[in-house]
Amino acid sequence: QEQSQSLLDQVKFDAHGLVPAVVQDAISKEVLMLAYMNRESLLKSLESGQTWFWSRSRGELWNKGATSGHTQQIVSLSYDCDGDTLLVKVKQQGPACHTGAYSCFYRDAEGGGIAPEADRFGPLSRLEQTIAQRDAERTEGAYTTYLFEKGLDKILKKVGEETAEVIIAAKNRDSQELRSEAADLIFHLMVLLREQQIPFDDVLQELEFRHRKPVKKD
Ligand code: AMP
Ligand code: ZN
Ligand code: ZN
Ligand code: ZN
Repeated sequence: QEQSQSLLDQVKFDAHGLVPAVVQDAISKEVLMLAYMNRESLLKSLESGQTWFWSRSRGELWNKGATSGHTQQIVSLSYDCDGDTLLVKVKQQGPACHTGAYSCFYRDAEGGGIAPEADRFGPLSRLEQTIAQRDAERTEGAYTTYLFEKGLDKILKKVGEETAEVIIAAKNRDSQELRSEAADLIFHLMVLLREQQIPFDDVLQELEFRHRKPVKKD
């Protein structure tokens, strides 16, 4: 209560009583969307732990995900140097954009000479999504579907094989081969995690958590 009072005092709302809020995925750090908050929606966000905005087009308070189910659980909320912009880090449920895109920022400047910033881990995110989709839909003819149909033992065998291939390539100092086998191993490991119903986010959190603790080497 006290905390939200001081926050409300620090935030500068514009002439329309609004402040822009940048919404960021707390784990992947991807910028998901930009929306506006007024005092009331900011309070509701702080109280509920979910994002509430003011819809300028509809002229009403808006709880993100209320109709789509694509809610945002607030992990942290901060404001910038001069208090005129909010940054909300969230755990995003499903896509953030109403078009179904994960992030609203999926359109690049064309011919504007602005190179889109490369998300180094984009391929990993897309791979995770594809694997989940193959598991759910069992797309005919896809190798990933084949792995899920064959089941755990087949997936484990592949993880074992790819691990051995990584070792051999490294031993031979064959960097081209190692690249390829490392990619194979990561893919099969991700399929295994999916089969075991361990979200990849859990692994990322594990890494993040270790990063914060002093590392004990063995
Ligand atoms: P939702 O809050 O996801 O249940 O969606 C409700 C309505 O809010 C949608 O039909 C859109 O009009 C709007 N909306 C949802 N997400 C976004 C977004 N990321 N950017 C702009 N408008 C959105
Ligand atoms: Zn500012
Ligand atoms: Zn959008
Ligand atoms: Zn291989």
